Amino acid sequence: MGLETWGAACARWGQQKLLPWLLPESCRICAAPGAALCADCLRELPRLPADRCSWCALPVNDAGDCPVCSVEAPSYDYTFCPFVYTSPLAEAIRTWKFHDGLDWTRPLAKAWIDAWETPPPRPEALLPIPAHPARLRERGYNQAALLAHHWGRSYGVPVRDVLRRVRNTPHQVGGSRDQRRINLQSAFAVRGRLPAHVALVDDVMTTGSTAETLAQLLRQHGVARVDLWILARAL
Ligand SMILES: [Zn+2]
Ligand SMILES: [Zn+2]
Repeated sequence: MGLETWGAACARWGQQKLLPWLLPESCRICAAPGAALCADCLRELPRLPADRCSWCALPVNDAGDCPVCSVEAPSYDYTFCPFVYTSPLAEAIRTWKFHDGLDWTRPLAKAWIDAWETPPPRPEALLPIPAHPARLRERGYNQAALLAHHWGRSYGVPVRDVLRRVRNTPHQVGGSRDQRRINLQSAFAVRGRLPAHVALVDDVMTTGSTAETLAQLLRQHGVARVDLWILARAL
């Protein structure tokens, strides 16, 4: 490719990809001028079906049962998660996490709030699920904490920084399910007293095993009700 063609390619790339990122007043998904997440893109964010499990937010089967929770009930009480972790939301979340996309926090947090006709019941505290220390060093921020602070301000719920990762979670290879659970549980610690009703906050829920572990731990610390406030659920 000649120098001129390179220049043209760079200019085109800049116009298509870079410009929308540099101008904060354009939609991060479609580049339409206006809000960071335009009304059209907000409407089209991939949503979980209304018929979903109140425990874990997975779509229920034809019989109305959750394929996971009907086998074993989780230790948390409700999952409030409106979106599916898929395109274009998945790319948005990855950009937010890995590419210094701090200005994504507001539109994503707001999209979650706008998704509810009736807001979720107010817990007494929001607890962001802590990031691995190594990842925190790498990124400089924990997106779960960013969400928690935004939602906490919006709903008037205090954010409590009481959960700690005490060591990096070991690789979940081999061992019984119970053993894996114990391994995972020892990766977290609770510092300080907790109210009776809390909500754990995270950006993405995949298997739910971290939430399950933390819910068990919180119950051991006297918490009576554990909700999950999650932005997007992997299916
Ligand atoms: Zn848009
Ligand atoms: Zn379920």
